[in-house]
Amino acid sequence: MPDIACVNGRFGPLAQAVVSVEDRGFQFGDGVYEVIRTYRGRPFQTDAHLARLERSLHALQLPSPHPRTQWATLIEEGLRLSGFPETKIYMQVTRGQAPRDHPFPTGASPTVVLTFRELRPPDEAIRHTGVPAVTVEDVRWGRCDIKSLNLLGNVLARQQAKEAGAFEAILVRDGVVTEGSVSNVMVVRDGALYTAPEGPRILSGVTRTLMIELASKEGIPVHETFVVKNDLYSASEVLLTGTTVEVVSVVRVDGRTIGSGAPGPVSKRLARRWVELIA
Ligand code: PMP
Repeated sequence: MPDIACVNGRFGPLAQAVVSVEDRGFQFGDGVYEVIRTYRGRPFQTDAHLARLERSLHALQLPSPHPRTQWATLIEEGLRLSGFPETKIYMQVTRGQAPRDHPFPTGASPTVVLTFRELRPPDEAIRHTGVPAVTVEDVRWGRCDIKSLNLLGNVLARQQAKEAGAFEAILVRDGVVTEGSVSNVMVVRDGALYTAPEGPRILSGVTRTLMIELASKEGIPVHETFVVKNDLYSASEVLLTGTTVEVVSVVRVDGRTIGSGAPGPVSKRLARRWVELIA
């Protein structure tokens, strides 16, 4: 099965897809993106992802290049051409190609890229064992709510995690826990779930929203408030949520054992509800 790309409406093999070196995404990171995954071959939560894409574009003063129905058509076509059992759909919109100059160019049209690659989910064993994480200083810019192409802070944090043998970097800014480098973070304390509030310090995850809904249905109190780094260490459970990780338990942070050192009851309940939801 081939990896497929779609560049400004033209589909072809991913390996042959090209954009200009003067694309503002390449030179300035002047663009936004989304990642959607499939379950049983069908894209999951497309509307929520497209709504977030529209919010991100709006923040960059970029009009949405397509109505949602058109995005859906492009996604269907890419899935048909690639034909993987499960697919990771990457969508990116930049301000387009123009001679390098910081202010918005006049007359540039956006570059729209979609890629379709086989989804390789994380090893199933981590559902049972949990994963280690490390804390890393959150040095990103002040608008983390925009899913922008400027991911250098996330990249550097993720690399630090990798070098430490950890699954994820948990970002801490001014002492408070914001989110993971590619995930949202939730903490269980006294049976309640705590997660950073929506706002400029985090990317509001589609999975985060669903997990909050599942927790509420389960009668688990949810507090959208910041916790500090020490709350991580003393938490009974720590969870990561995201499109590709889904929900996974963190059992060690900076080498310190969290709770019992294994996925706890709240994580297990939410993971079970998650499996039901995607079924
Ligand atoms: N925060 C960051 C920084 C991310 O990159 C992601 C993954 N897109 C998330 C949170 C989780 O978002 P979602 O649940 O929509 O995948």
